[in-house]
Amino acid sequence: MMANTQIFNFKAWIFLPFIIVFASSSAFSSEPTIMIVAGHVADPRNKPNTVGAKSYRGVDEYQFNDELLALFSESKNQIRGVNYHLLFATENVELRARSRLANTRLPTLYLEIHHDAARRIDREKATAAGVDSALWNPIQGFSVHYSTDSEEAILSRRFARLLGKTMAESGFIPNQYLANIVRMKIEDREIGLYNRVRPHGLYIFRAIKVPVVVLEAGNIAHPREETRLSEEYTRLKVVESINQAIIRYLSGE
Ligand SMILES: [Zn+2]
Repeated sequence: MMANTQIFNFKAWIFLPFIIVFASSSAFSSEPTIMIVAGHVADPRNKPNTVGAKSYRGVDEYQFNDELLALFSESKNQIRGVNYHLLFATENVELRARSRLANTRLPTLYLEIHHDAARRIDREKATAAGVDSALWNPIQGFSVHYSTDSEEAILSRRFARLLGKTMAESGFIPNQYLANIVRMKIEDREIGLYNRVRPHGLYIFRAIKVPVVVLEAGNIAHPREETRLSEEYTRLKVVESINQAIIRYLSGE
């Protein structure tokens, strides 16, 4: 009995280092995690949290963000070997808490989904001119945002560029309104790529310590674009563009 116990202990000591090495190597080779967050909250309790922009028909932006995000919970819309960590606006995680969550979980990428609008004066003029007016033309399209103020600015920019490319390749129109009218710093007009520096910086770009990118999937202030963005066909095309950008990013492009 005593002899058996000693043999067991002896063997356990031999195997222990191998067990530790095996356990830690599998931890290091774990799957990449993409944290995709729906912008804004459904129930803002305090500033700067809001429900987001208003669509042409008066729908709150956070609903568009959540409905797009929901598609990522279906396994057919997930890349195999990639973990998706989804955070919905209806979960009401406020801005600072979202950033803390990202800095605790340290995903490979943090992507926030938004839908853009336009200044009230431009919306009112275009509305008065009718849904088919050319005044709507400048108020449309997607845009991709990163910031050279981010800790992981180079990686953020790499993913933002790829996402701008895959969105443009899918036929989405890059937004010029933010550059021409709002005077945000645009880096590449062909792919709607913006660098969010002062005075157009965003809290998450400074707070989040992993690569961080914002996608404005389109413009919901534009009546026809709002209709398109409400259709599953368009949403799936956005989801596919995001997944293609993730694949290209993870492959080192
Ligand atoms: Zn937004």
